[in-house]
Amino acid sequence: MKRAIFPGTFDPFTVGHYSIVKRGLHIFDEIVIGIGHNQSKKTLFTIEKRIEMIEKAFENEPRVKVTAYSTLTVDFATEWQADFILRGLRSVGDFEYERTIGDNNRLLTRIETVILFTEAEYAHISSTVARDLMSYGKDISNFLPPNVKV
Ligand code: ADP
Repeated sequence: MKRAIFPGTFDPFTVGHYSIVKRGLHIFDEIVIGIGHNQSKKTLFTIEKRIEMIEKAFENEPRVKVTAYSTLTVDFATEWQADFILRGLRSVGDFEYERTIGDNNRLLTRIETVILFTEAEYAHISSTVARDLMSYGKDISNFLPPNVKV
């Protein structure tokens, strides 16, 4: 049984995140989406709303689970007996950050990070832009997975 966690803030979970998980299901038997929860970090969407939106996106996919966590990511992975951390890469901007945390996580626990390159049509999609657009009253349905609404 190959299990990976897909950790992130997902504020909100976008079609870019959705694509990474769908593709990850070709590699892993099960993916646990972990919403990292930090009391001091302000988010637009509540934990409950983020869980609800992600559950809706994967309502027909029993191999995907969703939960929040407030521990170190590697401890969350260990708790779920996951040997892999799944992440997505959009640009060279993402690269240095992902390498640093990936190296640290492997040194802490031997858990490997598996990184998938984004599909070109989602390279510009980010939770930050989605939140900005929302704050100006714009429709962000193109940023969200199929069947998911804010
Ligand atoms: P974090 O706060 O941990 O960076 P995010 O919710 O921003 O969490 O992202 C979670 C993961 O999804 C990260 O690996 C990020 O690079 C990846 N990701 C975000 N947007 C996209 C996208 N459009 N295409 C592919 N991967 C993405």
